[in-house]
Amino acid sequence: MATTPDLKPTACILCSQNCGLQVAVEDGHLTRIRGDRAHPVSRGYTCEKARRLDHYQNAAGRLDTPLRRRPDGSFEAIDWDTAIGEVAARLGAVRDAHGGASIFYFGGGGQGNHLGGGYGRATRAALGMKYASNALAQEKTGEFWVDGQLFGRPRCHTAPDFEHAEVAVFVGKNPWQSHGFPRARVTLKAIAADPARTLIVIDPRRTETAELADIHLQVRPGTDAYVLAAMLAVLVEEDLFDDGFIEEHTTDFGTVQAAVEHIDVAEYCARAGVSEVLVRAATRRIAAAESVSMLEDLGIQQAPHSTLNSYIEKLVYLVTGNFGVRGGMNIHSRFVSLGGGGGGASAGSPVGGHRIISGLIPCNAIPDEILTDHPRRFRAMIVESGNPAHSLADSPRMREALRALECLVVIDIAMTETARLADYVLPAASQFEKWEMTFFNLEFPHNALHLRAPLLPPRPGTLPEAEIHRRLVRALGGYTDADLAPLHAAAALIPEQGRGAFAMAFMGTVAMRPALMALAPVILYETLGPTLGDAAEAALLWGAAQSCAMSFPDAVKRAGIAGDGPALGDALFDALLANRSGMVFSVDDYDATWQRVETPDGRVRLAVPELLAELATLALAPARDPDYPFVLAAGERRSGTANTIYRDPAWRKHDAAGALRISPQDAAALGLVEGATARITTRRGSAVAPVEITDTLQPGHVTLPNGLGLDHPGADGRRVVHGVAPNELTSSGDRDWLAGTPHHKHVPARVEAVAPA
Ligand code: SF4
Repeated sequence: MATTPDLKPTACILCSQNCGLQVAVEDGHLTRIRGDRAHPVSRGYTCEKARRLDHYQNAAGRLDTPLRRRPDGSFEAIDWDTAIGEVAARLGAVRDAHGGASIFYFGGGGQGNHLGGGYGRATRAALGMKYASNALAQEKTGEFWVDGQLFGRPRCHTAPDFEHAEVAVFVGKNPWQSHGFPRARVTLKAIAADPARTLIVIDPRRTETAELADIHLQVRPGTDAYVLAAMLAVLVEEDLFDDGFIEEHTTDFGTVQAAVEHIDVAEYCARAGVSEVLVRAATRRIAAAESVSMLEDLGIQQAPHSTLNSYIEKLVYLVTGNFGVRGGMNIHSRFVSLGGGGGGASAGSPVGGHRIISGLIPCNAIPDEILTDHPRRFRAMIVESGNPAHSLADSPRMREALRALECLVVIDIAMTETARLADYVLPAASQFEKWEMTFFNLEFPHNALHLRAPLLPPRPGTLPEAEIHRRLVRALGGYTDADLAPLHAAAALIPEQGRGAFAMAFMGTVAMRPALMALAPVILYETLGPTLGDAAEAALLWGAAQSCAMSFPDAVKRAGIAGDGPALGDALFDALLANRSGMVFSVDDYDATWQRVETPDGRVRLAVPELLAELATLALAPARDPDYPFVLAAGERRSGTANTIYRDPAWRKHDAAGALRISPQDAAALGLVEGATARITTRRGSAVAPVEITDTLQPGHVTLPNGLGLDHPGADGRRVVHGVAPNELTSSGDRDWLAGTPHHKHVPARVEAVAPA
């Protein structure tokens, strides 16, 4: 009789929610996948995307040997010793000739894998690298910067509390498809079904979330700033702000008040194409509610006035007193901060002086930092779990930049568009073949972590990133056996004495050689790792656990972790290792938010001069280019898209080619019928796609899905590109003036019917 394979706990790797999963593994395949009820946050919830994860694990094109580029551009397989030795020598030579700052790091983790980036920090330190970026600089850095201005530091990241909010507001966000908070669809349905609660959506599309909304402000694409500014003006004009909150907790309200008093609400609503009556009704509902949570996303972060949008959205919940309260917005605890990196490079990018936010150079500026004869240009690059040749704006120029590098090293599981341009490709084990976790610990009041054990051993020829970076740091001469001798000796005592002596030895070692502190991830992996059974790759989390316990001791204790000082950190680390379905690591009360505001006086600084100046310019409407009458949202999230984690197109059951969505009015005007082919042209490029006609879009608005345009081996082994790669159509110059975030959701375009062949 056939036996049922055991289900093992892991997590979905397709979005930041990382829902807990139970998975059966048979002959190397993930054969049964279901939600894990033991996961403390998702509690058995998943969306439809997780069920197809075997298309990630067993996609054709996975790498199984290090590769070296030949002079003719083809690749040859090499062994790991050769690869590590040559990569260290090539990058070391660039460092010696031009300084470590000339080597740039991109990536470090996607939606499910952040441990690799943690270990990558050691390689970066060993090479003296200063500059980095990743996908956050395509999306969130404007918001991080605003958090820094309002609350003192970019790491003062706020979390919504939709579970308890009377009013939920989504701005440029369709959580039905892009999630963004736990059990999104369940929560949305609960809010929509409750007559005492209100769901407000600001979005140019009639999304699945907008369909559920009580109020949908269907703005014209790119006019979010007008409707948000109008809402702020209504709050001031109708005296709807929370005087008591403003008096007790903020500064500079008068400056904000003066800046919005001139706004003509009717005119701004007209520009946004929304009813003034509806805008006033939505604003009054927000002002009257006991609690309001708001969530913004790429719809405004990758559109005109990106950083300004984030600012006004936050002002709306702040001046109505929905901060530091139940059901409102709160600053969450952190195990590791996503928004708080410093990078030691605050003076701006080396060539263009672009603003560095949270340690990240704007993605759109990267080609400018390479394609120049400036002496401080980037000359080499390490790309880890990232695919800038596909995912950053203006792919043709990005490819040109990557080709211009003296050395490009890619660490990934598959032959990506970026790997194809590399000098060396180092194959990593998949996210189900090693210990993994993400640092998307962004919840309040219960914040959770999930350290995932491997489901399978690493595929032969691949290595976990921890081991890749250990070998690189060793090859670069980062430390010697003698440096580690005291740590190995102390680690040997752990089974009998715990980690106290090890902690002392670690402190002593870095006191003797402070440079070793930056190499701590791989040093811990090499010394503490062997004491963790098969979980050596989790070793760097010991330091993070100590830091978290030190920063948030009360919240960690409320989560049921016992101890004081280093013992609390140790207990947190042990709990992380033991709870294979994840764990709540901190439980907050709402007052904790005020302890986490990092302004000198503990008050929220409402006035941000740079953005108030931009607000004043909104009155000057930008001219539209008649050659490009459409607005293309390049990279719409749909049920059949999942960034580029799924390279195998077979995972999609529908919309295989990634349709261009268009309104019925525009389709009729252009003579397009469902399934016809259209050509879309932007200032940067042109592509053809099948058409899907939908009345969820306004006239003048078209969308293409994200995550398409990847190549994948066909049945004959040749590579076939599926769908349109959105960034063949975008321009790196089209970006927010302050944060540099791209305008992917607002690409001027024209659309034409393509005559059948
Ligand atoms: S894609 Fe779906 S199942 Fe996967 S983490 Fe996100 S919400 Fe959960």
